Amino acid sequence: MNLSEIYYPRSIQELIAIMARQKNLQIVAGATSFGYIQDTRYLFFEPSIASIRNIPELKTIHKTERMISFGAACALNDLESVYPFEKKPAREVLRATANSTVRNIATIGGHLMYQKRFLALWPLLACLDAELEFKGPSGTSIKNIWYLTNEEGLPSLESRRVLTRIRIPLQSIDRLFIRRTGAEIFPNGDGAYLVAASTIERNSISYFRLVIAGQRAFRDYDAEQRITSSPYPLTERVFHSVLRMYSESLHRTKFWNMELFLPLISQALEDLQRSSVL
Ligand SMILES: Cc1cc2nc3c(=O)[nH]c(=O)nc-3n(C[C@H](O)[C@H](O)[C@H](O)COP(=O)(O)OP(=O)(O)OC[C@H]3O[C@@H](n4cnc5c(N)ncnc54)[C@H](O)[C@@H]3O)c2cc1C
Repeated sequence: MNLSEIYYPRSIQELIAIMARQKNLQIVAGATSFGYIQDTRYLFFEPSIASIRNIPELKTIHKTERMISFGAACALNDLESVYPFEKKPAREVLRATANSTVRNIATIGGHLMYQKRFLALWPLLACLDAELEFKGPSGTSIKNIWYLTNEEGLPSLESRRVLTRIRIPLQSIDRLFIRRTGAEIFPNGDGAYLVAASTIERNSISYFRLVIAGQRAFRDYDAEQRITSSPYPLTERVFHSVLRMYSESLHRTKFWNMELFLPLISQALEDLQRSSVL
Protein backbone atom coordinates (compact mmCIF):
# COMPACT_ATOMS: atom_id res chain seq x y z
CA MET A 1 0.00 0.00 0.00
CA ASN A 2 1.34 3.44 -0.88
CA LEU A 3 1.10 6.05 1.84
CA SER A 4 0.58 9.69 0.96
CA GLU A 5 2.43 12.46 2.70
CA ILE A 6 -0.04 15.00 4.05
CA TYR A 7 0.98 18.62 4.50
CA TYR A 8 -0.81 21.21 6.62
CA PRO A 9 0.64 24.54 5.48
CA ARG A 10 -0.08 27.55 7.72
CA SER A 11 0.45 30.23 5.07
CA ILE A 12 0.13 30.70 1.31
CA GLN A 13 3.93 31.01 0.98
CA GLU A 14 4.39 27.68 2.73
CA LEU A 15 1.78 26.08 0.43
CA ILE A 16 3.49 27.46 -2.69
CA ALA A 17 6.86 26.19 -1.52
CA ILE A 18 5.30 22.71 -1.16
CA MET A 19 3.71 23.03 -4.63
CA ALA A 20 7.13 23.91 -6.09
CA ARG A 21 8.68 20.78 -4.54
CA GLN A 22 5.87 18.29 -5.14
CA LYS A 23 4.85 18.04 -8.80
CA ASN A 24 1.62 16.07 -8.27
CA LEU A 25 0.19 17.68 -5.18
CA GLN A 26 -3.48 17.03 -4.42
CA ILE A 27 -5.10 20.07 -2.82
CA VAL A 28 -7.86 19.34 -0.34
CA ALA A 29 -10.07 21.94 1.31
CA GLY A 30 -13.21 20.57 3.03
CA ALA A 31 -12.72 17.17 1.32
CA THR A 32 -16.51 16.80 0.92
CA SER A 33 -16.21 15.95 -2.79
CA PHE A 34 -12.98 13.96 -2.52
CA GLY A 35 -14.62 10.55 -3.01
CA TYR A 36 -16.78 11.79 -5.92
CA ILE A 37 -13.99 13.12 -8.13
CA GLN A 38 -12.23 9.76 -8.25
CA ASP A 39 -12.28 8.14 -11.69
CA THR A 40 -11.92 4.59 -10.40
CA ARG A 41 -14.01 2.53 -7.97
CA TYR A 42 -11.02 2.44 -5.63
CA LEU A 43 -9.88 5.56 -3.83
CA PHE A 44 -6.67 6.91 -5.30
CA PHE A 45 -4.48 9.35 -3.42
CA GLU A 46 -1.59 11.34 -4.87
CA PRO A 47 1.73 10.75 -3.06
CA SER A 48 1.42 14.30 -1.66
CA ILE A 49 -1.71 15.97 -0.31
CA ALA A 50 -1.99 19.52 1.05
CA SER A 51 -4.86 20.44 3.30
CA ILE A 52 -5.48 24.18 2.93
CA ARG A 53 -8.10 24.60 5.63
CA ASN A 54 -5.67 25.91 8.23
CA ILE A 55 -4.37 28.84 6.18
CA PRO A 56 -5.83 31.92 7.88
CA GLU A 57 -5.41 34.17 4.78
CA LEU A 58 -7.70 31.83 2.85
CA LYS A 59 -10.50 32.22 5.40
CA THR A 60 -10.88 35.99 5.45
CA ILE A 61 -13.59 38.14 3.88
CA HIS A 62 -12.66 41.71 2.87
CA LYS A 63 -15.04 44.38 1.72
CA THR A 64 -14.17 47.69 0.08
CA GLU A 65 -16.42 50.24 -1.58
CA ARG A 66 -16.12 48.40 -4.89
CA MET A 67 -15.45 44.76 -4.14
CA ILE A 68 -16.11 41.90 -1.81
CA SER A 69 -13.38 39.29 -1.64
CA PHE A 70 -13.73 35.83 -0.09
CA GLY A 71 -10.78 33.61 0.76
CA ALA A 72 -11.12 30.30 -1.09
CA ALA A 73 -11.22 28.31 2.17
CA CYS A 74 -14.28 30.16 3.54
CA ALA A 75 -16.96 27.60 4.31
CA LEU A 76 -20.21 28.02 2.35
CA ASN A 77 -22.07 28.81 5.58
CA ASP A 78 -19.62 31.70 6.27
CA LEU A 79 -21.01 33.45 3.18
CA GLU A 80 -24.69 33.53 4.20
CA SER A 81 -24.74 37.10 5.41
CA VAL A 82 -22.48 38.73 2.83
CA TYR A 83 -23.06 40.02 -0.70
CA PRO A 84 -24.54 38.54 -2.85
CA PHE A 85 -25.93 35.88 -0.49
CA GLU A 86 -27.62 38.31 1.88
CA LYS A 87 -30.22 38.86 -0.86
CA LYS A 88 -33.10 36.41 -0.95
CA PRO A 89 -32.82 34.53 -4.24
CA ALA A 90 -29.05 34.10 -3.86
CA ARG A 91 -29.35 32.99 -0.21
CA GLU A 92 -31.97 30.42 -1.26
CA VAL A 93 -29.53 28.85 -3.74
CA LEU A 94 -26.84 28.76 -1.06
CA ARG A 95 -29.22 27.13 1.43
CA ALA A 96 -30.37 24.60 -1.18
CA THR A 97 -26.76 23.46 -1.62
CA ALA A 98 -26.24 20.20 0.30
CA ASN A 99 -27.20 20.60 3.97
CA SER A 100 -25.99 22.81 6.79
CA THR A 101 -23.49 20.21 8.10
CA VAL A 102 -21.85 19.91 4.68
CA ARG A 103 -21.93 23.70 4.18
CA ASN A 104 -20.02 24.12 7.46
CA ILE A 105 -17.14 22.13 5.96
CA ALA A 106 -17.41 22.60 2.18
CA THR A 107 -15.47 25.63 0.96
CA ILE A 108 -16.32 28.08 -1.81
CA GLY A 109 -12.95 27.28 -3.45
CA GLY A 110 -13.68 23.54 -3.53
CA HIS A 111 -17.16 24.31 -4.86
CA LEU A 112 -15.76 26.28 -7.82
CA MET A 113 -12.88 23.86 -8.46
CA TYR A 114 -15.06 20.73 -8.60
CA GLN A 115 -13.87 19.38 -11.88
CA LYS A 116 -16.78 17.18 -12.97
CA ARG A 117 -19.43 19.84 -13.56
CA PHE A 118 -20.49 23.33 -12.52
CA LEU A 119 -22.01 23.33 -9.04
CA ALA A 120 -24.92 25.47 -7.84
CA LEU A 121 -23.20 28.78 -7.04
CA TRP A 122 -21.09 28.91 -10.21
CA PRO A 123 -23.68 30.50 -12.58
CA LEU A 124 -24.62 33.11 -9.97
CA LEU A 125 -20.98 34.14 -9.49
CA ALA A 126 -20.50 34.10 -13.29
CA CYS A 127 -23.47 36.49 -13.67
CA LEU A 128 -21.83 38.84 -11.17
CA ASP A 129 -18.51 38.86 -13.08
CA ALA A 130 -16.57 37.21 -10.25
CA GLU A 131 -12.81 37.22 -10.62
CA LEU A 132 -10.65 34.40 -9.34
CA GLU A 133 -7.14 34.84 -7.99
CA PHE A 134 -4.81 31.85 -8.45
CA LYS A 135 -1.35 31.41 -7.02
CA GLY A 136 1.35 28.91 -7.84
CA PRO A 137 5.11 28.54 -8.03
CA SER A 138 5.09 30.58 -11.27
CA GLY A 139 3.23 33.56 -9.75
CA THR A 140 -0.25 35.03 -9.38
CA SER A 141 -2.97 35.26 -12.03
CA ILE A 142 -6.43 36.80 -11.91
CA LYS A 143 -9.09 35.50 -14.25
CA ASN A 144 -12.77 36.05 -14.83
CA ILE A 145 -14.64 32.97 -13.60
CA TRP A 146 -15.77 32.34 -17.18
CA TYR A 147 -12.20 31.31 -18.06
CA LEU A 148 -12.83 28.09 -16.11
CA THR A 149 -14.78 26.84 -19.16
CA ASN A 150 -13.41 25.54 -22.45
CA GLU A 151 -14.88 26.17 -25.93
CA GLU A 152 -17.38 23.32 -25.43
CA GLY A 153 -18.59 24.85 -22.18
CA LEU A 154 -16.99 22.12 -20.05
CA PRO A 155 -14.98 22.80 -16.88
CA SER A 156 -11.36 23.58 -17.63
CA LEU A 157 -9.32 24.06 -14.49
CA GLU A 158 -5.89 25.52 -13.89
CA SER A 159 -3.39 22.84 -12.95
CA ARG A 160 -0.59 23.39 -10.43
CA ARG A 161 -2.38 26.48 -9.12
CA VAL A 162 -4.34 27.12 -5.99
CA LEU A 163 -7.44 29.30 -6.03
CA THR A 164 -6.78 31.85 -3.30
CA ARG A 165 -9.52 34.49 -3.53
CA ILE A 166 -12.88 35.11 -5.20
CA ARG A 167 -13.56 38.80 -5.87
CA ILE A 168 -17.00 40.09 -6.78
CA PRO A 169 -17.63 43.69 -7.84
CA LEU A 170 -20.13 45.31 -5.45
CA GLN A 171 -22.83 46.63 -7.69
CA SER A 172 -26.47 47.24 -7.26
CA ILE A 173 -28.25 44.37 -9.00
CA ASP A 174 -31.93 45.29 -9.37
CA ARG A 175 -33.21 41.95 -10.53
CA LEU A 176 -31.90 38.47 -9.91
CA PHE A 177 -33.82 35.71 -11.68
CA ILE A 178 -32.87 32.16 -10.66
CA ARG A 179 -34.42 28.89 -11.81
CA ARG A 180 -33.28 25.35 -11.25
CA THR A 181 -33.94 22.52 -13.73
CA GLY A 182 -33.39 18.77 -13.74
CA ALA A 183 -32.74 16.44 -10.86
CA GLU A 184 -29.31 16.16 -9.22
CA ILE A 185 -26.71 18.90 -9.25
CA PHE A 186 -24.19 16.83 -7.30
CA PRO A 187 -22.25 14.66 -7.82
CA ASN A 188 -23.01 14.44 -11.54
CA GLY A 189 -26.72 14.65 -12.39
CA ASP A 190 -28.56 16.51 -15.15
CA GLY A 191 -29.50 19.46 -12.90
CA ALA A 192 -28.63 23.02 -13.91
CA TYR A 193 -29.26 26.60 -12.78
CA LEU A 194 -30.27 29.47 -15.03
CA VAL A 195 -29.38 32.84 -13.52
CA ALA A 196 -30.04 36.30 -14.98
CA ALA A 197 -28.81 39.46 -13.26
CA SER A 198 -29.75 42.96 -14.38
CA THR A 199 -29.49 46.61 -13.38
CA ILE A 200 -31.87 49.24 -14.67
CA GLU A 201 -30.90 52.91 -14.70
CA ARG A 202 -33.68 55.34 -15.58
CA ASN A 203 -34.81 54.24 -19.02
CA SER A 204 -32.04 51.86 -19.89
CA ILE A 205 -30.59 48.55 -18.82
CA SER A 206 -27.01 49.15 -17.73
CA TYR A 207 -26.11 45.55 -16.86
CA PHE A 208 -27.44 42.19 -18.05
CA ARG A 209 -25.96 38.72 -17.74
CA LEU A 210 -27.64 35.38 -18.31
CA VAL A 211 -25.74 32.18 -17.51
CA ILE A 212 -26.88 28.56 -17.53
CA ALA A 213 -24.57 26.04 -15.89
CA GLY A 214 -24.75 22.38 -14.98
CA GLN A 215 -22.84 19.71 -16.85
CA ARG A 216 -21.76 22.57 -19.15
CA ALA A 217 -21.92 26.34 -19.02
CA PHE A 218 -23.66 28.61 -21.53
CA ARG A 219 -23.69 32.34 -22.12
CA ASP A 220 -24.45 34.51 -25.20
CA TYR A 221 -22.39 37.73 -25.09
CA ASP A 222 -24.07 39.18 -28.22
CA ALA A 223 -27.57 38.79 -26.76
CA GLU A 224 -26.39 40.42 -23.51
CA GLN A 225 -24.94 43.33 -25.52
CA ARG A 226 -28.19 43.68 -27.50
CA ILE A 227 -30.11 44.05 -24.24
CA THR A 228 -27.73 46.48 -22.56
CA SER A 229 -27.73 48.77 -25.58
CA SER A 230 -31.56 48.91 -25.71
CA PRO A 231 -33.96 51.32 -24.01
CA TYR A 232 -35.98 50.01 -21.07
CA PRO A 233 -38.59 48.55 -21.11
CA LEU A 234 -37.56 46.41 -24.07
CA THR A 235 -39.75 46.85 -27.14
CA GLU A 236 -41.56 43.80 -28.54
CA ARG A 237 -39.11 43.86 -31.43
CA VAL A 238 -36.00 43.77 -29.23
CA PHE A 239 -37.56 41.18 -26.91
CA HIS A 240 -38.20 38.78 -29.80
CA SER A 241 -34.90 39.49 -31.51
CA VAL A 242 -33.02 38.68 -28.25
CA LEU A 243 -35.05 35.51 -27.81
CA ARG A 244 -34.15 34.52 -31.38
CA MET A 245 -30.45 35.14 -30.63
CA TYR A 246 -30.66 32.85 -27.60
CA SER A 247 -32.54 30.23 -29.61
CA GLU A 248 -29.79 30.25 -32.27
CA SER A 249 -26.91 30.15 -29.82
CA LEU A 250 -28.49 27.34 -27.75
CA HIS A 251 -29.09 25.45 -30.98
CA ARG A 252 -25.43 25.91 -32.02
CA THR A 253 -24.15 24.36 -28.81
CA LYS A 254 -26.21 21.19 -29.56
CA PHE A 255 -26.26 20.45 -25.84
CA TRP A 256 -29.13 22.29 -24.17
CA ASN A 257 -32.74 21.21 -24.34
CA MET A 258 -34.33 24.12 -26.23
CA GLU A 259 -37.87 23.22 -25.19
CA LEU A 260 -36.84 23.57 -21.57
CA PHE A 261 -34.46 26.51 -21.65
CA LEU A 262 -36.00 28.86 -24.23
CA PRO A 263 -39.22 29.33 -22.18
CA LEU A 264 -37.04 29.93 -19.09
CA ILE A 265 -35.03 32.59 -20.92
CA SER A 266 -38.32 34.13 -22.05
CA GLN A 267 -39.44 34.18 -18.38
CA ALA A 268 -36.16 35.85 -17.37
CA LEU A 269 -36.78 38.57 -19.96
CA GLU A 270 -40.40 39.00 -18.86
CA ASP A 271 -39.19 39.30 -15.28
CA LEU A 272 -36.81 42.03 -16.42
CA GLN A 273 -39.74 43.92 -17.97
CA ARG A 274 -41.45 44.20 -14.58
CA SER A 275 -40.36 47.41 -12.97
CA SER A 276 -40.21 46.51 -9.26
CA VAL A 277 -36.70 46.00 -7.92
CA LEU A 278 -35.16 43.58 -5.37
C1 LIG B 1 -23.81 15.24 0.78
C2 LIG B 1 -23.45 16.30 -0.19
C3 LIG B 1 -24.45 16.98 -0.87
C4 LIG B 1 -24.14 17.99 -1.77
N1 LIG B 1 -25.14 18.66 -2.42
C5 LIG B 1 -24.84 19.64 -3.28
C6 LIG B 1 -25.85 20.36 -3.94
O1 LIG B 1 -27.05 20.15 -3.71
N2 LIG B 1 -25.51 21.31 -4.83
C7 LIG B 1 -24.19 21.59 -5.09
O2 LIG B 1 -23.93 22.47 -5.88
N3 LIG B 1 -23.20 20.93 -4.48
C8 LIG B 1 -23.50 19.96 -3.58
N4 LIG B 1 -22.50 19.29 -2.95
C9 LIG B 1 -21.11 19.58 -3.35
C10 LIG B 1 -20.42 20.58 -2.45
O3 LIG B 1 -20.84 21.87 -2.82
C11 LIG B 1 -18.94 20.38 -2.71
O4 LIG B 1 -18.60 19.08 -2.27
C12 LIG B 1 -18.09 21.34 -1.94
O5 LIG B 1 -18.44 22.66 -2.18
C13 LIG B 1 -16.62 21.15 -2.25
O6 LIG B 1 -15.90 21.91 -1.33
P1 LIG B 1 -14.71 21.26 -0.50
O7 LIG B 1 -14.08 22.35 0.25
O8 LIG B 1 -15.16 20.09 0.30
O9 LIG B 1 -13.78 20.79 -1.70
P2 LIG B 1 -12.82 19.51 -1.77
O10 LIG B 1 -13.67 18.28 -1.82
O11 LIG B 1 -11.77 19.58 -0.73
O12 LIG B 1 -12.15 19.79 -3.20
C14 LIG B 1 -12.89 19.75 -4.39
C15 LIG B 1 -11.92 19.89 -5.58
O13 LIG B 1 -11.45 21.22 -5.62
C16 LIG B 1 -10.03 21.26 -5.49
N5 LIG B 1 -9.79 22.43 -4.65
C17 LIG B 1 -10.35 22.71 -3.46
N6 LIG B 1 -9.97 23.93 -3.04
C18 LIG B 1 -9.14 24.41 -4.00
C19 LIG B 1 -8.40 25.62 -4.15
N7 LIG B 1 -8.49 26.61 -3.24
N8 LIG B 1 -7.63 25.79 -5.24
C20 LIG B 1 -7.57 24.80 -6.19
N9 LIG B 1 -8.24 23.64 -6.10
C21 LIG B 1 -9.01 23.45 -5.02
C22 LIG B 1 -9.62 19.93 -4.87
O14 LIG B 1 -8.33 19.57 -5.26
C23 LIG B 1 -10.67 19.00 -5.47
O15 LIG B 1 -10.30 18.62 -6.77
C24 LIG B 1 -22.78 18.31 -2.02
C25 LIG B 1 -21.76 17.63 -1.32
C26 LIG B 1 -22.08 16.63 -0.43
C27 LIG B 1 -20.97 15.91 0.29
